[in-house]
Amino acid sequence: MIYFTPGPSQLFHTVPAHITQALRENIPSLSHRSKKYQLEIFEKTVAGLRTLMDIPSSHQILFVASGTEAMERVIENTVLKHSFHFVNGAFSKRFYTTSLELKKKAEKCEVAFGKGFLFKDAAIPKKSELVCFTQNETSTGISLPLQEIYAIKKKNPDKLIALDIVSSAPYVEVDFRSIDIAFFSVQKGFGLPAGLGVMVVGPQALEKAKNLLKKDLSIGSYHSFLSLAEFAAKNQTPETPNVLGQYLLGKVVGDMRRIGITKIRKQTDQKATLLYDFFDSHNTLSPFVSEKRFRSHTVLTIVTPDGSDGIVERLKEKGFVVDRGYGNLKETQIRIANFPAHNASDVQSLLSHLKY
Ligand SMILES: *Cc1c(COP(=O)(O)O)cnc(C)c1O
Repeated sequence: MIYFTPGPSQLFHTVPAHITQALRENIPSLSHRSKKYQLEIFEKTVAGLRTLMDIPSSHQILFVASGTEAMERVIENTVLKHSFHFVNGAFSKRFYTTSLELKKKAEKCEVAFGKGFLFKDAAIPKKSELVCFTQNETSTGISLPLQEIYAIKKKNPDKLIALDIVSSAPYVEVDFRSIDIAFFSVQKGFGLPAGLGVMVVGPQALEKAKNLLKKDLSIGSYHSFLSLAEFAAKNQTPETPNVLGQYLLGKVVGDMRRIGITKIRKQTDQKATLLYDFFDSHNTLSPFVSEKRFRSHTVLTIVTPDGSDGIVERLKEKGFVVDRGYGNLKETQIRIANFPAHNASDVQSLLSHLKY
């Protein structure tokens, strides 16, 4: 079976061998306070990520359990009262709802599913402390142009900018100096088992967390930016973390560095072109996102006028797993992931079963 699901997804091809090696080395029994853990797992994985994704030394790399946890940590650590959210699907809505559930005054600019934003028309309230973007909205297949997000930061230097890049990392090329926070989990573009999230946190965001703490406000307990950063300085985490997940991430990051991130990005673009060209000229199936500049290269949403179930079942019989649409779009769309783990010949085979 080849999993074209947007997460969990197909494992990166080297992962099975790394799991075998991890068992040989007894990684799951290794103490998270040992020197071997600190130097060969934590430090190596962080350094690898820094190089692969070009994360500057000004920005902390902090481990959490998931993308959803990162949303909560970001709100807790950077918002006294007011957050602002660009909402165009289920994950951006989750980010917004998280802020409300933490009793903040969250506001949003919302557009219909399948649409992008005209940022220049979006009025971000003066009092917003944090502006949240779901850079790649996995529920709708919308990708937001980064240059426009950097421009918003430039215009609002006092506001913190947070980017959810869960389903676009490591393909997406973020200029981390132009934003404050980004986060992702590893079961999507990195092709790893679920259970590990990563936050990239810049100095202005860290400063904000310190200020909130000084005001005697809660920034969370074991996973605040500050507790995570304090332990990261010792190549550790506050709790017993997903050591195996961190080990595997370090290994896959190493493999991706050997292949070259530029090559991986180029291959992703080529496969995306192959996919979109196919569906743009198909008799019945068509891309949900009509505006090309908002089309995600890593998660495609495809409208299925004759229903999604038949297609999903038919592909399964051929050895390919795709997802149905998200939420309300379950019956009328399919979603296809285009991650580094998916090679061009698998994409071609998948499409060969959709020619009708
Ligand atoms: C999957 C996903 C999440 C949630 O990540 P988890 O690791 O499952 O908690 C958040 N945002 C986006 C855009 C996602 O695709």
